Amino acid sequence: MGYSERHCQLCGVSFNVARIRKADEPESAAWGNYGIDFVTTADAARACEVEGCTNIPRTEHPDPLVSAEGEHIAGPNCELTLGYSGWRITAEEMRDILRCLCIAAKSEDWQPEVGDKDYEIDATYCFVAGVSHSPDEFSAEEMIPVKHGLEQTMINNEAMEGLGSDEEWAIPVHEACFQMFERVSREKLGKVDIDGLWRLRDSEGDWPEGFKDPLKRSDISIVSEQYFDCVKGTEYLVSHPLRITGLDQLINSCALDSEASCEVVFNVGQAVESHYDPFAALSPELCELLLGHLERRDVANLRLVSRSFRQLPQLYFRRIVETEMPWIWEVTTLKGRKVDWHDLWCRLSAADGGASMDTQERHWLQQLPQDKSENLRQQLRKEGLTGMEMSKEWAKRGLNFKQEVDDDIKAANDAGMWPADTRKATELRGLRNRRRIWEDLEEIVKRIAALPPVEEDEDAESRVW
Ligand SMILES: [Zn+2]
Ligand SMILES: [Zn+2]
Repeated sequence: MGYSERHCQLCGVSFNVARIRKADEPESAAWGNYGIDFVTTADAARACEVEGCTNIPRTEHPDPLVSAEGEHIAGPNCELTLGYSGWRITAEEMRDILRCLCIAAKSEDWQPEVGDKDYEIDATYCFVAGVSHSPDEFSAEEMIPVKHGLEQTMINNEAMEGLGSDEEWAIPVHEACFQMFERVSREKLGKVDIDGLWRLRDSEGDWPEGFKDPLKRSDISIVSEQYFDCVKGTEYLVSHPLRITGLDQLINSCALDSEASCEVVFNVGQAVESHYDPFAALSPELCELLLGHLERRDVANLRLVSRSFRQLPQLYFRRIVETEMPWIWEVTTLKGRKVDWHDLWCRLSAADGGASMDTQERHWLQQLPQDKSENLRQQLRKEGLTGMEMSKEWAKRGLNFKQEVDDDIKAANDAGMWPADTRKATELRGLRNRRRIWEDLEEIVKRIAALPPVEEDEDAESRVW
């Protein structure tokens, strides 16, 4: 078995994801994997010869092979998946997100030291060690800070039981994901349960998904090849989920001055032929109460059939934002202010949504050539061609394939079939990543809560290695 990559136990993404800079960006905006400074075209299975891409010499590089290949510079349509293109994600969004924080086993003589958090001191099995910049397969080195004397450690996503090792391997996580774990665990379990995470890895840890019976892990399966595959449209997976440019601004722009009147949302609309509306007899308070018990789709239907619900109170949207988007904790800054909650809900949905649209678009792009070849096959059959004749005709007409596929894609883009530009304008990649991680964390914490209680004897035994 060859090289295999460790992933963040919490969110499933690797620690080694490269970025290919644009021509107008500094060298520091490019990086490769495992301490390599940049991506070269020759690294790719298929060289990128897309118009607009270039390769520039980097003669100062100590490795003559690398400097001979030159650094690949992304044009707008770069096709390399060795790194994310600078045209599709900023260096700022990716910076710091890939560092590996290690949750390491406590040694037998582990004693609290300055800086330990209460939950680390309370934990039986593990503590939060330092951060490594580029873990190499199973080993995380040069950890900063050095806590409890630990400068380097082995890391693994799988349960160690049965792997024939006496060593305790640390759990690798992204720093930002761990900060979110602290938040979710505190909220759902009343404490930061690192022991729970340790026990969960021991009972359900798996590779490459992180856990057996994988979590939803949106988009992870398409990027988790032997090396991380930077598939176009998955940039959000490596966008910093805590440092999100534009989020505070979006939230604050929905606060209104105290004079503004906006208790309800939507117009009453034109008077429709009066028909019996059983809800007309309900007081506004009862209507509001009813809304609180209905699914969003039912509310939409109710609006269509009952004039009493044509307009919806702002409070309805406030409740949606606060209960259905728990990962956007920044909305608490709006406390006590007058807010257009409907506007906020629409804009936050647009900012962290879009994932399903991306999936549909990717599926369509993959399916298009297959559909075309199937159509051609059927056409040739209809014409009665078989054997050699069919192969000959296939080769001849197949020549136009690529052009036809390109034309179809261009036509779809021109027709606005995939509103990439609109999406780009409203999407906050980091927020989308935060939502993805939060949803995974909720499941992880649920699994921790469901772990069988630790028996006293077993507990004592497991501390004597
Ligand atoms: Zn992560
Ligand atoms: Zn390229």
